[in-house]
Amino acid sequence: MDIQTLGYWLNTRDRGDAETIAVVLHADAGRFEGTVKTLKMRRLSYHYYIRKDGAVFKFAPAARAAQHCGATYLYGGLKISNSNSIGVCLENLNDGKDPYTDEQRVALKELLGEIVAAVPSIRYLTTHRDISYPRKTDPKGFEGVDRIAALFDLAYWTRPGVPAA
Ligand SMILES: [Zn+2]
Repeated sequence: MDIQTLGYWLNTRDRGDAETIAVVLHADAGRFEGTVKTLKMRRLSYHYYIRKDGAVFKFAPAARAAQHCGATYLYGGLKISNSNSIGVCLENLNDGKDPYTDEQRVALKELLGEIVAAVPSIRYLTTHRDISYPRKTDPKGFEGVDRIAALFDLAYWTRPGVPAA
């Protein structure tokens, strides 16, 4: 698929010994240009960003740990964090009203297909909300993560007490 870059990578860290096991979905609570500025200023990053028009950007190399999760919870002996995940962000205001577009859903499925083919150790699809609720609610209003996970033989990783989108 056609994937654009910014012409440079955003801030990342070494993954250390961690195996990449999950894809974490986000919403940026903003718009593309402002989000890129904020990420640069705060030295944060996602690996991929999907604009509302379906354009896909790669912000960071998958072999490096992007800075997209912050603190996350352990559940069932498993913690999904920056070290062992790939961060994919959807352009959305995260207010529960701003709609996710069909173009974004199509692009996300295509991108996930490419990610799991390139990184076969990935076993889980989850969201920032599922790993960091109540501190985080994104991607608010994005439904059907479990069904998307099933398309790629991934488990949807969540934990008790996290509300649905
Ligand atoms: Zn997030």
